[in-house]
Amino acid sequence: MHTGRWFEAGPPLRCSLCPHHCAIAPGAFGLCKVRSNADGKIALPFYGEISSMAIDPMEKKPLYHFRPGSSVFSVGFIGCNLRCPFCQNWEISQSVDTRTRQFSPRELVAEALRLKQTSVAWTYSEPLVHIEYLLDAMPLVREAGLANVLVTNGCIEEGPAREVLAFTDAANIDLKCFSGETYKRVLGGDLGAVRRFIELCGELGVHAEATTLVVPGLNDSDEEIDACATFLASVSADLPWHLSAYHPAWRWEAPPTPPASIARHTQRARTKLRYVYPGNIASSANDTRCPSCSAVAVSRDFPFGKVDRSGLVSAGGSFSCAACGEPLPFR
Ligand code: SF4
Ligand code: SF4
Repeated sequence: MHTGRWFEAGPPLRCSLCPHHCAIAPGAFGLCKVRSNADGKIALPFYGEISSMAIDPMEKKPLYHFRPGSSVFSVGFIGCNLRCPFCQNWEISQSVDTRTRQFSPRELVAEALRLKQTSVAWTYSEPLVHIEYLLDAMPLVREAGLANVLVTNGCIEEGPAREVLAFTDAANIDLKCFSGETYKRVLGGDLGAVRRFIELCGELGVHAEATTLVVPGLNDSDEEIDACATFLASVSADLPWHLSAYHPAWRWEAPPTPPASIARHTQRARTKLRYVYPGNIASSANDTRCPSCSAVAVSRDFPFGKVDRSGLVSAGGSFSCAACGEPLPFR
């Protein structure tokens, strides 16, 4: 049995990986359902248990400014430390009864290479509650010449966040709202930890994009969207932000987000951030336009059957607009 780091021995045994700081009784599990107490230590019975594997367009993560037009080997575990009532992946995030298959870190990297992929995305449910596996696998991914992509709720403590970000090439972080109360009461998370995670990406030079699922009546007021945009702009005005349309899922049955609402919020947020994109809807606003000359640098049709990056010139690891030469923030 693999054992976990980040705990206080107690009694009671407390996991210190995320802000929940669960006190875990012998034989029981923490809120994420994957970290347990065995003999006074954190046990990881789901280490290497993979629920989902697929090859996705990088844009589907969503990452629009990292290796545009490439594909990524996407890997999902089970469990999550949040309980968003509209979770699109609730079958694997809120239950551990899903069928899984065991892969060692080396086997997983070998599978990515066999499939001729150049990036591995840790995604679908919440990867950070399996951080010990990530810290075993991510260095191997890099040694094999591949990139690590982390798709996360960003809700962990700063110490482990720094460790995992040291091996992260690109991250998409959910900024679910800008109300600490909504995070706590509705989602079971911690806004402060998520904000710090996004700031850390900026401080450590990790390519970061943010996603907000715009849920009518929950987080779609102008004030809340403005507050998210202002915070993200304080990290970097070049940080790409995806404002995604919600669809009913799991315990949330309200009607889907109207496309007009996404379009309006996207336009307004562009007064604070240079690259704001609508998510889950087809729109020409999915294209990246050069902020200097307005030429299309990258065009994307939804759901990403075609990504045309002919308006982007790369030289020595930097990117610029093919029309006017303006440097553009891509990796
Ligand atoms: S990672 Fe899991 S067990 Fe640890 S504090 Fe968070 S929810 Fe609790
Ligand atoms: S953080 Fe993501 S995976 Fe976890 S419950 Fe929320 S939407 Fe689902």
